[in-house]
Amino acid sequence: MFIKPVEDMLMRNADHYLIPADIVANVQTDNNLYHAFLVLTKVKYSKIPVLDNDGHFEGLVSLPLITEQMLSDDQLNVDILMQKRVCDVMEHDVRTVEQVSDIEATLHLMIDNPFVPVVDHEGYFKGIVTRREFMKSFNFLTHEIGKQYDMIEKDFSNSEKAK
Ligand code: AMP
Repeated sequence: MFIKPVEDMLMRNADHYLIPADIVANVQTDNNLYHAFLVLTKVKYSKIPVLDNDGHFEGLVSLPLITEQMLSDDQLNVDILMQKRVCDVMEHDVRTVEQVSDIEATLHLMIDNPFVPVVDHEGYFKGIVTRREFMKSFNFLTHEIGKQYDMIEKDFSNSEKAK
């Protein structure tokens, strides 16, 4: 559990963490890999969300997953990109959070992932929380917490001597 001042300050900025779905680059499960390759190359992100036709979150697709398909006998086979679809190669079991205010869960997931998808209880994709947005808030917290709360250092010297 977070200590109260840290939780309060992180919660105050929680709305800023979310990059909303309408500005998150994505592809759909039935797009071919050629389309996904073009989108990823254009947006310059190595991994983006995959949605179904109704806006439900289905998983993630990355450039390495696509280029792996192109490799055959040490040659690049570009034609395969027209034959395979995103659902054939995407990551399916992706951990998500339901709300940006699930800060502890989001933080744990961001240790291993550059972003965490936010997906509501009906499976609709709401956006992503990125390490970058979170680090901005953490930076704010480190500068402001001393101004907004009394931080008193505890004296452990006696308990150390007692050992
Ligand atoms: P950042 O912390 O801003 O570097 O973003 C981390 C990762 O989140 C990026 O490498 C992308 O995989 C993903 N990401 C960030 N912004 C977007 C966006 N607008 N559309 C799609 N993916 C994004």
